[in-house]
Amino acid sequence: MYDITIIGAGVSGSSLAYELSKYDVSVCVLEAENDVAVKTTKANSAILHAGYDPLPGSLNAKLNVEGSVLAKEICSKLDVPRNQIGSLVVAFSEEDLEMVQTLYERGVKNKVPDIQILTKEETLAKEPNLNPDIYGALYAPSAAVVNPWEYTIAMAEVAIQNGVTFSFNQKVKDIQKVGDHFEIKTDKETIESEYIINAAGVNAGEIHELVSEPTFKTIPCRGEYYLLDLEETDTVKHIVFQCPTKVGKGILVAPTTHGNIIVGPNAENIPDEWVNTGKDVANTATGLKGVAEGAKKSVPTINLANSIRNFSGVRANTDREDFIIEQVMPQFYDVAGIKSPGLTAAPANSLYLIELMKQDGLVLDKKNDYVDERKRIHFNQASIEEKQQLISENPDYGRIICRCENITEADIRESLHQTLPAKSVEGVKRRTIAGMGRCQGGFCGPRVVEIIADELNISPLEVDLDRWNSHILVSQSKEVL
Ligand SMILES: Cc1cc2nc3c(=O)[nH]c(=O)nc-3n(C[C@H](O)[C@H](O)[C@H](O)COP(=O)(O)OP(=O)(O)OC[C@H]3O[C@@H](n4cnc5c(N)ncnc54)[C@H](O)[C@@H]3O)c2cc1C
Repeated sequence: MYDITIIGAGVSGSSLAYELSKYDVSVCVLEAENDVAVKTTKANSAILHAGYDPLPGSLNAKLNVEGSVLAKEICSKLDVPRNQIGSLVVAFSEEDLEMVQTLYERGVKNKVPDIQILTKEETLAKEPNLNPDIYGALYAPSAAVVNPWEYTIAMAEVAIQNGVTFSFNQKVKDIQKVGDHFEIKTDKETIESEYIINAAGVNAGEIHELVSEPTFKTIPCRGEYYLLDLEETDTVKHIVFQCPTKVGKGILVAPTTHGNIIVGPNAENIPDEWVNTGKDVANTATGLKGVAEGAKKSVPTINLANSIRNFSGVRANTDREDFIIEQVMPQFYDVAGIKSPGLTAAPANSLYLIELMKQDGLVLDKKNDYVDERKRIHFNQASIEEKQQLISENPDYGRIICRCENITEADIRESLHQTLPAKSVEGVKRRTIAGMGRCQGGFCGPRVVEIIADELNISPLEVDLDRWNSHILVSQSKEVL
């Protein structure tokens, strides 16, 4: 029997696991897929928002601003790439300027540090490639970009080191209250737990309805992106937003922590039945056309022909405006409707929920000793001397496998044995960035398959692309002949 079971290992569930792992309680995380950060958490704009957008007084506003401060600390402690490059919300009309003023006032109320409204000239001095027809911009220096999956993996790894169990390929199907605890039925087994936290992202409504009448309706909303080659790195230096609308924060152009330029997202409500079918994260010609037009409005010279990847993410929007972090019944809590800025707010959401649980009577004692740091070797960012040292200790560092991103055989082999090991080609990619460059794994992909097979002592035919059983190879070519 666990004290607390978290359903879902996105950034919400993993951040909760990380915070709860500092307390003297047994915690289990049940995840339907084979890794953390495989749903909405892996496909978003990767921005730690400053917090001027959410309405003052809302949970979104409070937890966004608190989350952005906490994220900075966590990234530094857990060795996660984060660049504080600041953001600009650009005005293209007098009307937009009024919106910029509104955002400024919201930002002041939300206690966002150091925001200011810039004139057209001041904005263009910061970003010379912007459309010269702009009217000005809101500047927020605390906005940052982060590597969202590394962030989630890092929190999950520290949680595991502190004793949390992460159990994958465990899709929760049913929940029953039996006496003073719950029985959680997955497609594999039954798990007993005193408390449950529902952090199932876009599926949180379904999990909620296993124990209670519906109190919100999920309105899944797809956002599509372009990711540009490093050749476009100098396009912009800040996160460049347009004025937000009711459905989203508008098309942005921003550098990622890896130096690529990300462009998107649009906002398109999709049918409920598309969720988890693959259709929910498909790219469409119409969607991408709209994204491209939006990006060109901000940066007319942007070269979308340098796109190396398109992808989509699904927002867990609901018919309620705010995040839903609340008790559903004794010992059962929702962390639902975690739309943007859910990546930013995650650590603050977790602290807020823990406080709520304590107020509801859960006794939580902090452990005297818990791990709260993590270090990784970043060979591709090391100095020549550091590289030489690493190669002398492990010659596998001398063999570059991913030539676009300079990822070595040692990086890949180690990712298969780290605290939360990679289990697939995409899992290796999320941990090492092998395959994330211009060729998108075209050259290194087969070598990564070979290394996984060799290191895990399995047949290459058993290597998964991403989800469990997503085999890439179907037979030896000689068998076909
Ligand atoms: C287009 C887009 C752009 C965004 N941009 C930003 C941004 O720049 N900054 C920001 O702060 N936020 C942003 N967000 C929001 C942010 O990505 C999300 O708020 C956050 O990732 C949600 O994390 P989560 O853990 O709640 O959900 P998820 O990451 O979806 O995790 C939920 C997990 O639950 C699992 N699960 C579901 N059902 C079950 C079940 N029955 N049993 C077991 N497991 C289950 C799923 O497999 C999944 O792994 C954006 C979102 C989108 C879609």
